[in-house]
Amino acid sequence: MIMITNIQQRIKSKTQLVSWQSIMADAVTRVDELLSILQLPPEPRANQNSGFSLRVPRGFVSRMQLNEPNDPLLLQVLPLERENQNTAGYVFDPVGDLKVMPEPGLLHKYQGRALLVTTGACAIHCRYCFRRHFPYSEANTGKGNWEQSLAYIKKNPGITEIILSGGDPLALSDQRLATIIKSLTALSQIQRIRLHTRLPVVIPERVTPTLLQLLSNLPQAVMVVHINHPNELDESVYTAMHELRKAGVTLFNQAVLLRGINDNENTLIELSEKLFRNGILPYYLHLLDPVQGAQHFAVDPSRVQILQTHLMEHLPGYLVPKLVREIAGEASKTPITNSIYP
Ligand SMILES: *Cc1c(COP(=O)(O)O)cnc(C)c1O
Ligand code: SF4
Repeated sequence: MIMITNIQQRIKSKTQLVSWQSIMADAVTRVDELLSILQLPPEPRANQNSGFSLRVPRGFVSRMQLNEPNDPLLLQVLPLERENQNTAGYVFDPVGDLKVMPEPGLLHKYQGRALLVTTGACAIHCRYCFRRHFPYSEANTGKGNWEQSLAYIKKNPGITEIILSGGDPLALSDQRLATIIKSLTALSQIQRIRLHTRLPVVIPERVTPTLLQLLSNLPQAVMVVHINHPNELDESVYTAMHELRKAGVTLFNQAVLLRGINDNENTLIELSEKLFRNGILPYYLHLLDPVQGAQHFAVDPSRVQILQTHLMEHLPGYLVPKLVREIAGEASKTPITNSIYP
C-alpha cells in the first residue's frame, strides 16, 4: 500500500514536472501568432526579428484582452521596431552589473547579500528588462563557474543572504535548484535564500510539490515575484501563491513603473490591493533602468512624484511600495522621496 502511494506520488510529480517545462517550451514566439490569438490586425510597428525575441507563455496571453492593441500585458512583451533606436543615456549595462562581478555570474553589489545569475533563461521576455543585454552565456552560475562562486561566498562570511536570480532561477529544474540551495545552506554563514522570479506568475504550474518541499525545508525562504499590472493576477496565480505561503515562503513583489502600462493612480492602487489579497506585499516600485531599447517606457519625473503622493494618500503605509531607482556604484537602491528635507 505504502509503495503504491509512493509510486503514485512520484508519477504525479513527474507529470507536473513535464507539464511546466512543456508549457514553457510551448510559449508563443511569433508576433503574427500572438496578434492573431488576440484578434488584432497585423502591427506594422512590430519587430518580427528582434535579437531579444518575443516569448510569452500561453496562459499569460489568455489574461490579455482581445482586440485591444494597448493591453497592458501585451505592451510588456510585444517587440517593436522603435527598440532599435538609440537614445543618449540608454546603455547596455544600465545598473553597472558587470563592474561588481567578482566571479562569472556572481554579483556582489551590496553589503550582506550577493546575487547569483543562475541561468539566462526566462519564461517570458519583458521588453524593458534591464538585463536584456547581459552576457549570460559567459556569466552564469552554471557549469564550471559554480565552484568559484561558492568559494568567493565562503571567503566573504559577511554575506548572509543569497539571491537566486537570472534570467529566472525557476527556469532551472527542481533538481538543479536543490543542488544549488544545498551547497549554499551547508555554509553556516547563510541565513536566508531569496528567489527573484517571474515564473510562478507567468506559469503558475511551476509551483510543483517538489519545489514546495524544497522551499519549506529552508529556515527562511523569501520570494520576490515580479508583477506590474493587476491583470497579471488570476485564479491560477492565486492558487500558486497560496501554496507558497503554506510552505512558509515570505512573498514580496517588485514592479517597474512603465509608461502606458501602469503609470496611473488607479492601476497602482488596484495592484497593491490585489497583491495583498494574494498574500504578497509590495516591495519595490522601480523607475525604469535606462537600458538600450526600453526608452519608450520611461515615465516623466513630474508624473512620478504625483503618482507617489497619490499612493501615499490613498493606501495604508504597508501597501505603498518603496519607489526606487538603481544608480550604478551606490550602496543600495536609491529612494525617490517627496521629503521636505533637501
Ligand atoms: C537589487 C539587488 C540586490 C537586492 O537589493 P535589496 O535592496 O536587498 O532588495 C542585490 N544584489 C544586486 C546585484 C541587486 O541588483
Ligand atoms: S522575467 Fe525578469 S529577467 Fe526575465 S526578461 Fe522579464 S524582467 Fe528580464
